[in-house]
Amino acid sequence: MKRCLSCDISVGGHTRICPLCQNALMGKETPGIWPVITERLRKLALLYKLQLFVVLSAIVICVVVDFFVVKTSRFHWSVAVVLWALAFELFLRSVIRGRVTPVRLVTLTTFGCLVLLIVTSWYFGFWGICFHYIAPISISAVLFFNFVMCLADKSENAMVYLLVNILVGAVTYVIQVVVPGDILLPWSICLIITLISFIGMAVFKGRSMVTEIHKRLHF
Ligand SMILES: [Zn+2]
Repeated sequence: MKRCLSCDISVGGHTRICPLCQNALMGKETPGIWPVITERLRKLALLYKLQLFVVLSAIVICVVVDFFVVKTSRFHWSVAVVLWALAFELFLRSVIRGRVTPVRLVTLTTFGCLVLLIVTSWYFGFWGICFHYIAPISISAVLFFNFVMCLADKSENAMVYLLVNILVGAVTYVIQVVVPGDILLPWSICLIITLISFIGMAVFKGRSMVTEIHKRLHF
């Protein structure tokens, strides 16, 4: 390792000058201590910036066209475009940063898309299909996936997602009971799957479920 004789410190890597006093370092250089940015990484970073630029430009164009060019339209479709674009960027970021487990990816992506789809369908007038069919079917599918992952998962990482999933299924059903209107069959099936998941968790993983709830709610 290189040394600075005046500061009496060792400096790793290829640096030739002391970072403190700027004097020349003595001795042999050692392999770099910082990660090397490869050509591939540089290209990926450029690709990421390019797509970010395209997406942000598209957002600006859509918003300007929607609000200032086509003034006659009563509903502002660009809001839906902005939401989808931002969700896409968020998704891309978390994938790139490698903070995704299969459970997290499936749960958050499905729920995110579902919320966006319901908002979008409200704009475009197919809200009914989205809420009464697509929503309960997706929630049920993710519930089943999370339940299986939870039983297989040793680290208990899937537990919190399953619990949130159960909460979403139950709360949505309760809201429908309170708000007047028909509750269609898919939601009832979703409620059954929600309750069975909860019972299954309580039976097979009761202790870790209680621990997880304590941990998340801080009591
Ligand atoms: Zn020095």
